[in-house]
Amino acid sequence: MIPLFSAVAANKDLNLLASVQRVIERHWYVLGEEVAEFEKEFAQYIGVTNCISVANGTDALELALRGVGVRQGDKVITVANAGFYSSTAIHAVGAVPCYVDVDANSLTMCLAAFEAALALKPKAVIVTHLYGRLAEIESIARLAKAGKVAVVEDCAQAHGAAQNDRKAGSFGDVACFSFYPTKNLGALGDGGAVVTRSTEVAEQIRMLRQYGWSQKYKVAVPGGRNSRLDEMQAAVLRTKLPYLDGWNEQRREIAKRYNQAFSGFPLQCPQFTGKEYVAHLYVVQIENRDAFRNFLKENAILTDVHYPIPDHKQAAYALPAESNGKLEKTEQACEKVVSLPCYPGMTDEEVEQVITVVRMYFNK
Ligand SMILES: *Cc1c(COP(=O)(O)O)cnc(C)c1O
Repeated sequence: MIPLFSAVAANKDLNLLASVQRVIERHWYVLGEEVAEFEKEFAQYIGVTNCISVANGTDALELALRGVGVRQGDKVITVANAGFYSSTAIHAVGAVPCYVDVDANSLTMCLAAFEAALALKPKAVIVTHLYGRLAEIESIARLAKAGKVAVVEDCAQAHGAAQNDRKAGSFGDVACFSFYPTKNLGALGDGGAVVTRSTEVAEQIRMLRQYGWSQKYKVAVPGGRNSRLDEMQAAVLRTKLPYLDGWNEQRREIAKRYNQAFSGFPLQCPQFTGKEYVAHLYVVQIENRDAFRNFLKENAILTDVHYPIPDHKQAAYALPAESNGKLEKTEQACEKVVSLPCYPGMTDEEVEQVITVVRMYFNK
């Protein structure tokens, strides 16, 4: 069976036990040396001045929104095809999500739709670099700046994606990462981080992640909570960070092989294989998705759908249709997307096996 994800290769050859042991021997488990060093190293990797580690990627989004001043009742623009994470954060601060449609090719935020939504006078926009591919972030950030809209990048699938040597996470006012085990940079449990060039925003988020404290037991800002990365996860992430670019390259190579093999097939492949894509997910669009997925499963290849239900149709928060623009491309994509296995350590034979089975499905 070929899984969709595997973190085995990215964990088994590194001496992660030694990283954990170091922490145990030091007997300091929360907000210590490992966290401080990881924050420095990760900020440097992204090319920004501040990194504040937190408990997970969703908290990172929520605290980032609070950090740039989003409050109850404010409007926040986002897309509806990115797994509801941004929506969870927007609802958590009591703000209102305003969904805009995606571009049919990239499946990231449509620039024209974003521009039109500026008329709603939003406080912020969350731009998701979906599947590991940089969104049209430079253009979005330019328009947002002119409209005084804060830009929050969701980089939870895009650690290391870059354009002209600028990395995902260095374009917005603030950017969020998840270190969930299957992400391009994954911990041995939950973890997350916010990065920013702004000293003020960084200060706010540092207080918010720890009860709103400016110092011990002194609550200086409202909306605080406990959301910290622990020392063991920070130690593991420090050990793994130097390998990230290599793993991204492996993912990209797999994506390129799939793209070559599938050209001419009735499925739409990702049309990008440069540094702007770190292949967190290799997603194709196809008609009759269920038949395709079942055939692959019968042939020992696991797939998944990222994501089947658009945010505006989730039962818990279903919104009146008129509250958003038309989300035609979003809804079409939710019907057609399917993710194929793509992870570092996937062998040539496994990639070949996936290609063979897809060929068989199309009788090619
Ligand atoms: C994984 C993910 C998140 C959430 O991260 P958690 O650490 O699981 O909370 C947010 N946004 C995107 C796009 C993700 O893929």
